Amino acid sequence: MSERKQRARAVFDEAAANTRDRSPATFDQWFGGVQFDDLTEGVLTLRAQNEFVMDWVKTNFLPELVAQIHELSGWSVQVSWILDPELDEPVSVRGEAQRPVKPHPLTLSSSEPPPASRRVPPPDDINPRHTFSNFVVGPSNQLAHAAAVAAAGGGGRRYNPLFLCGGTGLGKTHLVHAIAHRVYNERVGGARIRYLSAERFTNEFITALQHQRMDEFRAKYRDQCDLLLVDDIQFLAGRVQTQEEFFHTFNALHNVDRQIVVTSDKYPQQLERMEERLVSRFASGLVADIQSPELETRVAIVRNKADLEGFEIDDEVAVYLAQAVRSNVRELEGTLIRLAAKSSLTGKKVDMTFVKTELSAQLSHRTHTLSIEDIQRAVCQHFHLRTSDLTSKDRHKTVAFARHVAMYLCKQRLKCSFPELGRAFGGRDHTTVMSAVRKIVNQREDNPDVRAHLEAIERRLAAD
Ligand code: ADP
Ligand code: MG
Repeated sequence: MSERKQRARAVFDEAAANTRDRSPATFDQWFGGVQFDDLTEGVLTLRAQNEFVMDWVKTNFLPELVAQIHELSGWSVQVSWILDPELDEPVSVRGEAQRPVKPHPLTLSSSEPPPASRRVPPPDDINPRHTFSNFVVGPSNQLAHAAAVAAAGGGGRRYNPLFLCGGTGLGKTHLVHAIAHRVYNERVGGARIRYLSAERFTNEFITALQHQRMDEFRAKYRDQCDLLLVDDIQFLAGRVQTQEEFFHTFNALHNVDRQIVVTSDKYPQQLERMEERLVSRFASGLVADIQSPELETRVAIVRNKADLEGFEIDDEVAVYLAQAVRSNVRELEGTLIRLAAKSSLTGKKVDMTFVKTELSAQLSHRTHTLSIEDIQRAVCQHFHLRTSDLTSKDRHKTVAFARHVAMYLCKQRLKCSFPELGRAFGGRDHTTVMSAVRKIVNQREDNPDVRAHLEAIERRLAAD
């Protein structure tokens, strides 16, 4: 290498290193697809693995890089690009063993705005089917739907934050994805959309803390974010530090009127172990709830899904299914998909006879309802006790605790009366049962160990 070239290279390396300092991980990700070619006083020549990398680096890193070069050498450079899929010496080595840059490393949840001219497929964690056009609107979800459309900039008064709440399987996630799709498609190149579950927010936060990368984390969710969509916020229950972080994230975005959409399985005021100031923030925009859909809506959903799945279903069958599965849309959808699968495997048409036979099998399976004995058995397995311990007079701490837990679970799950429970637990007085249940209710609030036990037993019951 000539001396001139060596010097040029050194300038570039130093400029690149300084540029990298700002956000090393992102830099490495992108400069793993870029190679230094030459730097003369007038021109910096770079190779890019593909157009996508080039576009992205141009908009996001070049100004800084060029400024750095100017600072170090006094040169004002123009940048010239060569596309070269086969780089032999990329500027950065990407963390994960030189993964080639996909032509669309963009996800909605990444920090990078997409280049203006390009439509990039939606990211993995946004379901491509969860669009507004696939969402069936009925009285049960009208408000939530309209509010979601408005939050996506689709007209109507926009509320910030928008808080979507409702039971499981009723379409909250679907609506949030639909917002992401809409904003993404209409403002390509503009909006930086972050979609994530509260659980992922928590995990990323913890990781950032552990690796001293809070600056990066904050930049990602505060500065480099135009639309924040957080699913299942109830997950933050009791996580004090994450709540604190989220509170500041929320404020940072809200102060500059960046749209925030949060979903939850409860109303803000009913969220457990959630800081009051967060609850009041959540309730400060629009709280839109989703109820279980009425029959007509369920019928429309069945038709819609059948359409999407590409099979025919007549009206009688659609109505029958909608009547049979009332709990939530996810179940309805699940049932329909199972029927479709079975029909294609057996070659039978999805008609009334077929559906009735299939559903009766499914429903009778489901009616295996939980009994007091089932709960007692699960509790004993969990605590390594004999069932007879629960009905005995044994007052040892573990046994007594297990007994209380079992009583509590029976009350919660089976809605048995207190006297009935007293009888099932060795002929105890109903007031004994009442106080046991109350004890666990209180401990569940304050004691994470108790919650962990309860959750483990619930899992056991669910697996039965
Ligand atoms: P949640 O997040 O409220 O638990 P999801 O958004 O995951 O529920 O919805 C469960 C399933 O039901 C998804 O596949 C979704 O597409 C579907 N679904 C829910 N509501 C509707 C609706 N109104 N129209 C069409 N599909 C729906
Ligand atoms: Mg959901």
